[in-house]
Amino acid sequence: MEEKVGTEARPLRVAIIGAGPAAYYAAEALFKQAELVCKIDMFNRLPTPFGLVREGVAPDHESIKAVTRIYDRISANPNFRYFGNVTFGTDVTHEDLRPLYDQIIYGVGAQSDRKMGIPGEDLEGSYPATIFVGWYNGRPDYCDLKFDLSQERVIVVGNGNVAMDVTRILVTPPDELAKTDIADHALEALRQSKVREVVMLGRRGPAQAAFTNPELKEFGEIEGVDPIVGPADLELDESSLATLESDKTARKNVELLRAYATRTANPDHSRIVMRYLVSPVEVIGEDGKVTAVKIEKNRLELQSNGSLRAVGTGEFETLEAGLIFRSVGYRGVPLQGVPFDESTGTIANVAGRIIHASTGDLVPGEYVVGWAKRGPSGIIGTNKPDSVATVAAMLEDLAGLSPIADDKRDLSLVENLLKERNLKYITYEDWLKLNKIEVSRGAEQGRSRVKFTRVSDMLEALTQN
Ligand code: NAP
Repeated sequence: MEEKVGTEARPLRVAIIGAGPAAYYAAEALFKQAELVCKIDMFNRLPTPFGLVREGVAPDHESIKAVTRIYDRISANPNFRYFGNVTFGTDVTHEDLRPLYDQIIYGVGAQSDRKMGIPGEDLEGSYPATIFVGWYNGRPDYCDLKFDLSQERVIVVGNGNVAMDVTRILVTPPDELAKTDIADHALEALRQSKVREVVMLGRRGPAQAAFTNPELKEFGEIEGVDPIVGPADLELDESSLATLESDKTARKNVELLRAYATRTANPDHSRIVMRYLVSPVEVIGEDGKVTAVKIEKNRLELQSNGSLRAVGTGEFETLEAGLIFRSVGYRGVPLQGVPFDESTGTIANVAGRIIHASTGDLVPGEYVVGWAKRGPSGIIGTNKPDSVATVAAMLEDLAGLSPIADDKRDLSLVENLLKERNLKYITYEDWLKLNKIEVSRGAEQGRSRVKFTRVSDMLEALTQN
């Protein structure tokens, strides 16, 4: 007789690709099912877990990272295994894993960035903010990058929380950053930085900014830094005034900006200049390097759906700057063997169930969570209900599940596969050792941790510990 899947005798076998918050909340939701016995294998490209909690959250936002304690608890479940330093699509493929798991969840986030689509965008000195974030957070892919911080002025395009993080890190006194887990190479570079002004460009008005109140408040609290906003940028049109009535975050943002507009700037201070209703239309360069950005003044146009769109007015201005970060959103990249929706930059899905992008037919047993499912929006906590919803769909589908073959149920099969391919995978126990080393190196300097920034150093440390 065939055993029921999800029982002690026949546990449900689930692979989770990715180890960020959405991936972990999916694991948690599965483990929380009282009637379900489930064995989870989590595969992660980097050796270290936690996705953007480690690689994205700003180093000076330490308290947010405490959420990893929950992920530690989930990882300690005896039915959980972690395989870090394993890239899905190259080290292991869809074809390798599909026969070994009853269900697969992709929680791979959004690994790339949106482009502005303007001339000069790829000149040296013009970069996506996402790589600068990875660089200062010690993401191994970016640890060898060099940003020319000998500029006095840097331009940051966009008005989301990533733009706020990047701007803040660029002007925060290095001695303050030295108390955090910022990557050592970034701290060193920022100590030499000549940047005195960061200009943030919002294509719409202050009432439409995507950032949240605490981030804007922080701008007013950085030692030796003045946030500057021109009074003309705070004159709001009727629709924006209406937004303030209904949107508390927008109202508080505008209040804070109005308070900043009344401050007298100290000429000895660094500056964060917040400009509104302007869009870059061209990145200008000389000898292949950025020298300036041409911007166009916008006006807001009310759309039939009630939203406000920025429309160019034909009035231009040139802002000199040798470094520009575009912070206009992340974007997903296609994953080998998994349907991708080019229009949204996400894995093709309906409420977490993966579908074929062209036909809309369900791909049985495959699911998606987090930014790979809904796009790059929301805070860490947003991922919890998102993952719970996907897991609910997985549980609903159990009745019609096509279970894996009996001879594929041996737990050592995947380990053997990784070993046969000579892949140096990292277990959770390994990560806990690395974590201990990072924390103890940090303690010597009065910091929460000193991060490993190279995969080779992580592997080397594990051979010695
Ligand atoms: P985001 O919140 O979506 O903001 C993107 C910004 O880029 C918006 O201001 C958008 O303006 C602007 N933009 C888009 N296309 C543009 C273009 N072509 N030209 C000029 N501006 C353009 O994205 P994000 O900052 O990357 O953040 C991603 C998510 O992570 C967000 O949900 C964010 O809240 C979250 N996050 C949270 C924290 C935190 O909690 N501290 C920190 C970092 C990130 P429009 O509004 O006009 O489209």
